[in-house]
Amino acid sequence: MNRLLFLHSWCIINKKALGGYMTAVKEQAYAKVNLYLDVLGLRADGFHEIKTVMHTVSLFDDVTVALSPARESSVKISIDGCPFLPKDDKNLAVRAAFAFLEHTGKNADVSIKLTKRIPVAAGLAGGSADAAAVLRALNSIYKKPLSQKALMELGATIGSDVPFCVFGKSAVCLGRGEIIEPVVVSRELHFVIGSSAERVSTPLAYSKLDSIYSDFDGSKNTGGEKYYSEIIRCLSGESDKPLVTFNVFEEAVLPECPVASSIKERLKSLGAVNTMMSGSGPAVFGIFDSEESATIARDALREEGFAAYYAKSANFRQ
Ligand code: ATP
Repeated sequence: MNRLLFLHSWCIINKKALGGYMTAVKEQAYAKVNLYLDVLGLRADGFHEIKTVMHTVSLFDDVTVALSPARESSVKISIDGCPFLPKDDKNLAVRAAFAFLEHTGKNADVSIKLTKRIPVAAGLAGGSADAAAVLRALNSIYKKPLSQKALMELGATIGSDVPFCVFGKSAVCLGRGEIIEPVVVSRELHFVIGSSAERVSTPLAYSKLDSIYSDFDGSKNTGGEKYYSEIIRCLSGESDKPLVTFNVFEEAVLPECPVASSIKERLKSLGAVNTMMSGSGPAVFGIFDSEESATIARDALREEGFAAYYAKSANFRQ
């Protein structure tokens, strides 16, 4: 007999499959936008020290993880909505499944079904969100052998945005992005996110920043810090001014992306109270006063041939 359990956004399905019990969990993998993103310096290990306010939004991929016991582990993935994504362990969802099984000493045949809606390589952490969803799903199926902290630490071995995606909600992320401090959010934000197929690789974006800021030797300030406390005050409700945003990458990346730049300009003319690039781009977002004004702007962008999505804060789901 099938047993169906629905709890918030996930469900567990147990069914008697050929050769034993198969268990499946469906998770929603939420995208993020960066409301604030600054580079603080260049570390001795060559990585950049960042400070960012990440905000989970309601644009999501569906990730279903099914599992049956096996002597040796295997992981396979089927993908709807994005045929060019890798299906081997270059896919972060597959990598997450192997990492979980290895870390917990389990053996299983894992089958992942991914329905992709988050634009790929856009600065919205879609791959990291999928990886985090797989970690959460496997942890549910195995009845939570790992704490959230342990799951986030495991996530950090897969990618620097994965710990935040395991955490969800809104947070200040430091280090390479893996040090996470929760942020109180008392207002629901309405976004229109526009994406383009333009690509500026993250290493190239960093090297452009290095040349603008003289390898972050301290001689030139990014000017980001003055926005940070205002953003935190706005999110917490201490200030009711329109939310400001900051992204140090914007000046390095957007000039290379004419389509994303036009979307940003259109978002402004369509009434966004603020517009900003997310992560290392090229996705840009506009913040609107209401769901209604945001969906009108989204529809206008779509009519003009742009890829545009409405999303709101997804902070209140846990
Ligand atoms: P971030 O904001 O964390 O820098 P991003 O939004 O810029 O991430 P992703 O959509 O996560 O980028 O994709 C980055 C790369 O990861 C792409 O080149 C893509 O091929 C690869 N990738 C691997 N697995 C996935 C996945 N499940 N979904 C999307 N991209 C994936």
